[in-house]
Amino acid sequence: MKLVFATHNQHKVNEVQSLLPNNITILSLNDIGCFEEIPETAATLEGNATLKADFVTANYGYDCFADDTGLLVDALNGAPGVLSARYAGEQKSAAANMTKLLDALKDKNNRTARFKTCIALNIQTQKLVFNGEVEGEITMKKHGTEGFGYDPIFKPTNFTETFAELPMDIKNEISHRGKAVKELITYLNQNHK
Ligand code: IMP
Repeated sequence: MKLVFATHNQHKVNEVQSLLPNNITILSLNDIGCFEEIPETAATLEGNATLKADFVTANYGYDCFADDTGLLVDALNGAPGVLSARYAGEQKSAAANMTKLLDALKDKNNRTARFKTCIALNIQTQKLVFNGEVEGEITMKKHGTEGFGYDPIFKPTNFTETFAELPMDIKNEISHRGKAVKELITYLNQNHK
């Protein structure tokens, strides 16, 4: 079975492919000749994941899944949330996003936050949604160089290191995206062998 992962990020594709049974082949957007950025104009993570999966199914006819992730900070009423990638502007700069977030929290005592990932799957006329989240807090400054995005300032609960200091296999084990992908894989293994 062929399943499109609505992303241009080959790293994400490889990660998910390595976890799936052999009979399911993941194709990226590049693999199906889709080189444009699919608009993410919805107000929620589930809305954006669904927009991306529906775009592929409508325009290319493939079974497809798409993910969308946000960092929700309690002291900022859930911001940056669905706008996490563009928090400091359209250039989607991780450094600028972290600087803006540290600045927004500089006078706040409560630094609790969580990452949430939503995966929308369109398969054989069925539509399903899988979620994953991880609790933690925003550190006072950056620590570590691994990972991407907000990893250097996100410390998961019960760990002393940030995501950017943890080995990738541990991050994948506890992370928002890791958990959502596990739900997806369990469903595929049980229903589409
Ligand atoms: P996306 O929906 O996976 O593209 O994620 C949206 C934004 O959330 C990214 O641009 C990053 O800024 C942030 N983000 C998503 N996943 C992670 C992660 O695992 N660590 C740190 N930041 C992340």
